[in-house]
Parts: sequence; C-alpha cells; structure tokens
Amino acid sequence: MAVKVAKFGGSSLANSEQFKKVYNIIQMDKDRKYVVPSAFGKRSSDDTKITDLLLLCGTHAENNKPFDDVFSIIENRCLDIVKELDLDLDMTPYLKEIKDTISTNASKEYAASRGEYMSGIILSKLLGYEFIDAAEVIRFEKSGQLDYETTIALLKKKLSKAPNAVIPGFYGATGSGRIVTFSRGGSDVTGALVAQAVDASVYENFTDVCGLLMTNPCIVENPKPIEKVTYRELRELAYMGATVIHEDAIRPVRDAAIPLNIRNTNDPSHPGTMIVGDVEQNASAGTITGIAGKKDFTVIAIEQSYMNSHVGYAQKILSILADFDVSFECMPSGIDNISLVIESSYLEGKLYDIVEQIRLQCNPDSVEVYPNMALIATVGRGMIYMPGMSSKLFSSLYNSGVNIRMINQGSSEINIIVGVENDDFEKAIRSIYDAFVE
Ligand code: ASP
Repeated sequence: MAVKVAKFGGSSLANSEQFKKVYNIIQMDKDRKYVVPSAFGKRSSDDTKITDLLLLCGTHAENNKPFDDVFSIIENRCLDIVKELDLDLDMTPYLKEIKDTISTNASKEYAASRGEYMSGIILSKLLGYEFIDAAEVIRFEKSGQLDYETTIALLKKKLSKAPNAVIPGFYGATGSGRIVTFSRGGSDVTGALVAQAVDASVYENFTDVCGLLMTNPCIVENPKPIEKVTYRELRELAYMGATVIHEDAIRPVRDAAIPLNIRNTNDPSHPGTMIVGDVEQNASAGTITGIAGKKDFTVIAIEQSYMNSHVGYAQKILSILADFDVSFECMPSGIDNISLVIESSYLEGKLYDIVEQIRLQCNPDSVEVYPNMALIATVGRGMIYMPGMSSKLFSSLYNSGVNIRMINQGSSEINIIVGVENDDFEKAIRSIYDAFVE
C-alpha cells in the first residue's frame, strides 16, 4: 500500500479553521499516514509566528527579564485552537512545563522548538494519530549537525511500529537529550527525512500557494504555475532566488527518488507542483520551466592577450579569490578574457585589494570592474538539444532594449544565464517570460 508523508507549513496551522482544513485533507486520502506539522504561523500579514514569540521569550529569559506578557499570547493562541476544535485535550500542563523550562534559561533552540511540539500534540489528537516526539527520532551531533544515518535508523525503527503518526517538524535532540533545531523553515527537512525513512510514494509539502510559479509574481503579473520540475532544475531556480522549500529538504527525497509535491492547503484539489527525479525529462521540446534571478553582482573582467596558451592563468586568479575567502557565482571566459561574477556583498572592503593583487600577480592587459549587475537564469529541461532557444531569448532582450552584459550557458544545457544591469532586471525577466510563455 502506498504511504504518503504530508508536511503542513505554519500558515496551514495558523488557527482552528486551518487545522480543520488539514484534518479534511488527511481524511481525503488514507495513504497520508505520516504528518509533519510546523508551528502555528501568521494569521495575517501583520501577525507574528509562534516561533518568533517563543524566541522572544527565550531572549527575555536569557536577560533575566519577565516574559509573561509574550507567553500569554502564545498560551491564548494554543488554548483557543484546542477550544475551537472542540478537542478533549488539556494543553495547560504542557504550557506550564514549557514556560517553566524557558524560565530556567533553557536554550533558545528549546524555546523555538516548542511551537512544533504544541501543534504536533494538537494535530495528533485531532487526527487520532500517534504522537512521536521528534526528540526521539531526529538525532543531532553535539556540534549541532544532523546525524543523518542515526536519524534514518531511528525513524525506520519507530515508524515501522506506528501505522500512522504525527512527528513535529523543525527539531530533534542530541543523544543526551539536548534539543537542537534546524535552521528556520526546517520542518521541510523533517518531512523529507520521514519520507525517506518510510520510503514514501510521495512527499507532500502543503503550504499556502499552489506550487512554484514560473517566475516572480512581483515582476510578472499572474505567472503560470509549474506543473513539473526536476530536482536539477529546482536547484538552478532556487539558487537564483526562487525559494519554495528549505534547501536541505531536497537531498533525502532526491537520493531516495521520492517525488515532492508542493500543494496548497487552501486549495487542496489543485495538483500543485511535482518535483521529480532528473531522469524524467519529458518536457515538451522548446519550452522553459522557469525564470529566476538575483540583483547586486559585481563583474571583474580581466583581459590578457594569449590567455588561452598561458598555463595556470585562471588558477592564479582563483587562488587570489580564495586568499580573500571570496566565492564566485560563475566565470564566463573567452580566449583572451575571463570575467569573475561575484555577489557584491562578498566584496565589501575587499574589492580594491583583490583587483590590486590580480594586477600584481597576473599582470593582465586590463582589469575592469562592473558593479550593479543582475543575473537571470532561464531554466528548462525542454531547452536541451533545441536549436534556436538562445536566439529567441537574446532577440527578446534586444527587442526590449536590454543590453546583455554577459552570457553563460552550462554544458548541461538546462539553463542560460544572462547578466544585465540591475536597472534592466525586471524588464529583462518580463521580456523573456513573454517570449517563451503564451
Ligand atoms: N517554525 C519554524 C520557523 O518558523 C520552522 C518551520 O516553520 O518550518 O522557521
């Protein structure tokens, strides 16, 4: 029988109405046997997440300040949800224990984790599923690193005996029981680990949007949703700024070849976006999957005649970057030139010295610096082996009057990156979108 793991983000559990939607979603499909909740999220854009309120309590405790006022907001939200769901569940002992433990100046991570702990208890009661404390099954090293192998082994053992269960997201514990959290948004990671451990047929990640959009809706009005994207394409889009899921959540499901389905709790019949293995490349030829981009790069352009026959030239340039502890995004090159594309923030206080060292150590014909550049990645497995894709892209930019300052196409052919001035960023994305999407 198929087993599905469903993770619900904070907005899916922001109030009792949202809990009811989650209940209905689980009832709709009995294969949804393992559920991973986040903490109660924002009810509106000016609301505060429970995790942030808990962290605030932790900070007050750390500074020996009272935090009763903040804690009473948490308490009320929790008790209201239970009351409105009409559950036979008394959360007061849990709340008391949490407050007392935070008062003893427990770690910030303990405080932050209690949001998921509370929503887990409530959801397990609502669904009639077993509650499994993540502290028992998500194992961290003393250093705070996830102990991946032990975690999978613990999850397998525990879940083999639990036909259905709720496992709170975001946290786990060291062998000695100290609570440790993932970075923010980390419930996604817990869901992926659970999916791997039970060899799920799909990892469903429920949020408040119908999956990934082809591009940023703040730039293009109503962009089309992406139905299917491969993990490799997702990596390209995410690295260029399209965020939809915690990046550490990808590896467990990708390695186990488990599809990841981004879905909307508020529109459960929408199929959302399916993220699938890289071998499934059945996109229609000539289509793109998405466009993403980031502003604020600096390009250091180095010219040197006969650079192509100069052994070790690029290595010399890169070792200068390494000496300054600076990484680069990409490095387009020609026979007599190399451009280093670097996030401008990495160069703060270092740019002048780096350029100076390039001059001294590499003795180039010229070094030019171009700040305020933006990179735009057009990504799609449908572009592979398709003649005319780049010409379509470049003509669209030409027709919109955008000057392309740099071009980089990975040998995989699933993306073409162009560099444009920051000021042309939005215009460029709109024109690429219009050229490829009807
Ligand atoms: N509650 C945590 C956060 O706000 C983790 C999560 O929601 O995934 O970051």
